[in-house]
Amino acid sequence: MRLPKWKIMMKENNTFEEIAQALQSHETFLVVSHVRPDGDAIGCQIAMAECLKALGKKVTVWNEDGVPEKFRFLPGHEQVTQPPGRPQIFDVAIAVDVAVHNRVGTPLESIGAVKQWINMDHHVTNDRHGDFVYIDAGSPATGQILFHFFQAMNLPISRTIADNLFAAVSTDTGSFQYPNTTAETFEIGAQLVRAGVDVGDISQRIYDSHPLRRIELMRELLNTLELDFEMRMASICLTQEASARLGVLPEDNEGLIDHIRAIEGVVVAAFFEELPEGKVRVSMRSKDRRVDVAQVCSAFAGGGHSLAAGARVPGTIQDVMQKVKDQLAPMMTALAR
Ligand code: AMP
Ligand code: MN
Ligand code: MN
Repeated sequence: MRLPKWKIMMKENNTFEEIAQALQSHETFLVVSHVRPDGDAIGCQIAMAECLKALGKKVTVWNEDGVPEKFRFLPGHEQVTQPPGRPQIFDVAIAVDVAVHNRVGTPLESIGAVKQWINMDHHVTNDRHGDFVYIDAGSPATGQILFHFFQAMNLPISRTIADNLFAAVSTDTGSFQYPNTTAETFEIGAQLVRAGVDVGDISQRIYDSHPLRRIELMRELLNTLELDFEMRMASICLTQEASARLGVLPEDNEGLIDHIRAIEGVVVAAFFEELPEGKVRVSMRSKDRRVDVAQVCSAFAGGGHSLAAGARVPGTIQDVMQKVKDQLAPMMTALAR
């Protein structure tokens, strides 16, 4: 089920109380997030499901891609499944960390009907779809919004919720390093640690437990490194041929862009991944607010945050790379001045 057009419109934020009321007054819930889920997506799906279970509700959790292998240590991950294909009916569907309605992917086709949609997210480009909306683009992670929401509901933070919200906030802030990290983020981190999170253990599982094939992939990608705009832009490319040869999973490349983003003097990093349907997945990072990659990706019907964004663009890697550079050119010229 796709949302009827009238439900996809700019809607003002609801209050936490209104959203809590919507949860309390219904029985069956579906929790969804975006395709190719990251730590914020999966962590929030599980944390929201735990919240609903604590309220005595019936909960189903679907993600187009299931749980990536590297997040299968998170407590409660077993409840996240791929959609079954045949339509099911729910009272309420909740989308967490979903910038654009159709980024939910195949779960939409397995929804027979829902009475209400709730949309909680932190993307500046959020389309504000749904009956209840809470978007805070100032929040570094949807996990930070959920933490405040659970507090407003007086929901006790269980160890499972704490671990999942920590994974959500940690991954979307680059381990509390990106400029989106606020004093509040550390305060929430402290409260999650008090609720039982083992920082060393969870961080090792997230950041220091990669399969060897990911390192092989990094070797391959570094051989494709290109520098443009007087070394202010760094790009890497992954072809389908290389993916097949190395036997990598889609999740294996998450975070590899950070290695080229880290080059001194580089302001914008781009990763171009050839997809099966004649499209290219573009992933971009910026280190300077004057280079707004959400704006660049919006030109290709994508979106995200000003310093981290993405899009799926039809064409070959070479075509798409050129189009992205053309979009970037005015911003890069302004930087050079
Ligand atoms: P990624 O580069 O895939 O890690 O994505 C960076 C940010 O941009 C994340 O917050 C994504 O949710 C967002 N993003 C990525 N691809 C898209 C897209 N096609 N449409 C909207 N937002 C996207
Ligand atoms: Mn995400
Ligand atoms: Mn997020």
